[in-house]
Amino acid sequence: CGVFGVIGVTDAANFVALGLHALQHRGQEAGGIVSHDPVEGFNSARRFGYVRDSFTKQSLMETLPGPLAIGHVRYSTAGSKAAQIRDVQPFFGEFSMGGAAIAHNGNITNADALRRELIDRGSIFQSSSDSECIIHLMARSLQRNIPERMQDALRRVEGAFSIVAMTRTKLIGVRDPLGVRPLVLGRIGEGWALSSETCALDIIGAEFVREIEPGEMVVINQNGVESHFPFRKQPARFCIFEHVYFSRPDSIIGGRSVYETRRQIGVELAREAPVEADLVCPVPDSGTPAAIGFAHESGIPYGMGIIRNQYMGRTFIEPTEQIRNMGVRLKLNVNRALIRDKRVILVDDSVVRGTTSRKIKEMILDAGAKEVHFRIASPPTAWPCFYGVDTPQREKLLAATMSEDEMRDHLAVDSLKFISLDGLYRAVGEATGRDAKCPQYCDACFSGEYPVAPSDMIEKGFEL
Ligand code: 5GP
Ligand code: SF4
Ligand code: MG
Repeated sequence: CGVFGVIGVTDAANFVALGLHALQHRGQEAGGIVSHDPVEGFNSARRFGYVRDSFTKQSLMETLPGPLAIGHVRYSTAGSKAAQIRDVQPFFGEFSMGGAAIAHNGNITNADALRRELIDRGSIFQSSSDSECIIHLMARSLQRNIPERMQDALRRVEGAFSIVAMTRTKLIGVRDPLGVRPLVLGRIGEGWALSSETCALDIIGAEFVREIEPGEMVVINQNGVESHFPFRKQPARFCIFEHVYFSRPDSIIGGRSVYETRRQIGVELAREAPVEADLVCPVPDSGTPAAIGFAHESGIPYGMGIIRNQYMGRTFIEPTEQIRNMGVRLKLNVNRALIRDKRVILVDDSVVRGTTSRKIKEMILDAGAKEVHFRIASPPTAWPCFYGVDTPQREKLLAATMSEDEMRDHLAVDSLKFISLDGLYRAVGEATGRDAKCPQYCDACFSGEYPVAPSDMIEKGFEL
């Protein structure tokens, strides 16, 4: 998901709509905005579909007045898969000291247990979302102000959270102690912005100030930014997959350009798994920077052998397998004239279920390619993510049941190689690779080492 908030500008909701539009790659199912105006109070709107289809209409935006607003773009990882408007954030709570709204990116790994406990004690849930627990935990806190109630609530929450929240007068940002999901602070005129990624600061002309630190809460009002560290300090474990796939290439994460990291992954891949061929092609768009790096390092010409229809969203965000299967053809087509009679290296960001790779290989061979070699910009995805990226159940992950050679045979390609975990760490700037004792990132979907035990899943029988 993507979260965004602005304080101290005229008609903040318009800025939030723009910010959410720039974060649309983080969630395409639905979006929501809450605003506050000193006269009109709190207002909210939640809509299915793209931000540009709803939050551009003047008639809707006029209902969201005020100098303070937050918003959320959703794709479902927790909660019911069937899209329901009641699951669309931000969520709102009314407390004795006033209202508050929160927008959450990440996934709470003890949400089922918390929900059971809260329901037993009288909480009335409105949605099936894990994020709603936070509002109910806040309602039970005895603290006298909303930021402190949030701190109380979040100390009980396990897993990943980057949160943008608001009261009548304050914009609040928090990251979980491991800092699994991103969150950044920006300056816009006399006001401030919080965003999942820097690309959304660019769109509103805000200046990037800094990242919110892992375990940090910032409370922003007209007097400026106050910083708190309410959690026990732990070594940070940012999601390495944000670098590989999830974030936009024009964002800056941890002082590094995501594009440059992805290009560097391609360089590492070319060193680790060279192959003789005539053409390096990305599987667009997610494989493009790595393909550029691969071509540069190997000296093999780069070409656009697959053309993407720009009017389709990301395939993995489509909820059912059937739509996903169709999706490959709806979204990608082969550039036959370029491919014919060539030995082709295809560079993609990840192999998850393997359906995309299989279809693409067939399309490339149909177009007359002589050989197809897959090079993948992440290690084999062998484990599900429980921290906010929607990977399927373990059984559906190709790498959970097959070795690299078996996957090559299953996909029926001439060769298949994944970047090593160390190679990936080098590409994100860790010169000596992965520190096995204390890994610098979360890489659980590749390593199976979960930095936070996924307790709800373990209770349901998931085996580590
Ligand atoms: P596959 O066909 O292996 O499931 O899909 C891999 C391709 O689709 C990659 O290009 C990746 O960009 C995207 N993708 C498909 N499904 C998922 C998923 O569940 N999670 C992630 N992270 N990426 C996916
Ligand atoms: Fe990111 Fe993978 Fe960790 Fe999930 S399991 S947070 S996708 S690195
Ligand atoms: Mg892709």
